Amino acid sequence: MAEHTKCLIIGSGPAGYTAAIYASRAGLTPIMYQGPQPGGQLTITNDVENFPGYPDGIQGPEMMQDLEKQARRFGSDVRYGMVTSVDFSVSPKKVLVDDTHEILADAVIISTGASAKWLGLPSEQAYNGRGVSACAVCDGFFFRNQEVAIVGGGDTAAEEATYLANLCSKVHMIVRRDELRASQIMQKRVTSNPKIQMHWNSSTDEILGDDGGVTGVRIKNSVSGETTELPVTGFFVAIGHKPNTDIFKGFLDMDDAGYILTEKGSSRTNIAGVFASGDAQDNIYRQAITAAGTGCMAALDAERWLAENELH
Ligand code: NAP
Repeated sequence: MAEHTKCLIIGSGPAGYTAAIYASRAGLTPIMYQGPQPGGQLTITNDVENFPGYPDGIQGPEMMQDLEKQARRFGSDVRYGMVTSVDFSVSPKKVLVDDTHEILADAVIISTGASAKWLGLPSEQAYNGRGVSACAVCDGFFFRNQEVAIVGGGDTAAEEATYLANLCSKVHMIVRRDELRASQIMQKRVTSNPKIQMHWNSSTDEILGDDGGVTGVRIKNSVSGETTELPVTGFFVAIGHKPNTDIFKGFLDMDDAGYILTEKGSSRTNIAGVFASGDAQDNIYRQAITAAGTGCMAALDAERWLAENELH
């Protein structure tokens, strides 16, 4: 039998939990399905030092547990489970969880996040969080005055290489072609920075390390066939992100990369009663604090929409 709720939250990163805190405090008793990675991307990060309110920093997983506790405290019904399909053409919206359980939701808040793309090397997985990172803004600080490498040739890689160059002694930029995809201005910024060394036509062969973490990276030049070992302690992957929005395709307007489009200054999507927050709709800032901010917006927008439609 289908279960009815006023407010369903899909996804459990900072956006989802913040939406849950606001929605439950507004008396919406939201149901949240946490998705395949409860707590989201922050659960694979170590120290979070840039979230306001934690002067000594906090571990990513601990922060997400705190957010979950805070959401539960006000009556959010936080559940394990993954939304496997939706039908937003009907009212209330139909949502299927784990292919079996049907939920009918008046309002839906999407906070399914995005996933960093990885190279797919076993060594990349082995040293994840111990020198390997997909977020320079989050983790660059831990490699102050050290030598690091970053892979990728887009705007993110260029921006992050520049960010790292301000902190680290040297940045190796590993680019698989003989040109960057990044915008002209960003290209100029990286290629003219004396602390950034470009490695063109290069792929990552292996990330090297020991019990203490990353100690180097072996790269291979696809033109000469030559391999080189770079003595780095940090290895940053910046080859793009993929928003976790596949199940909403066909219902919601998205950009070419699959980020959900929202009305300027709000969390409203093209479907009335469906709101999007966090990295699923943001390919620019992608920070925990901005995700939390848009989660708050989504809950307030949902509450207002429910009231306007006499559903709350
Ligand atoms: P992107 O533009 O898709 O670039 C990904 C880069 O990673 C490309 O250089 C690509 O190489 C490389 N790459 C992909 N797979 C790889 C692999 N397996 N091994 C090695 N290299 C690989 O992604 P993005 O840089 O994250 O940017 C996403 C979007 O956000 C873009 O539209 C970008 O302009 C925008 N953005 C804008 C700003 C800004 O305006 N300030 C900042 C960040 C991002 P190829 O070039 O060979 O395909």
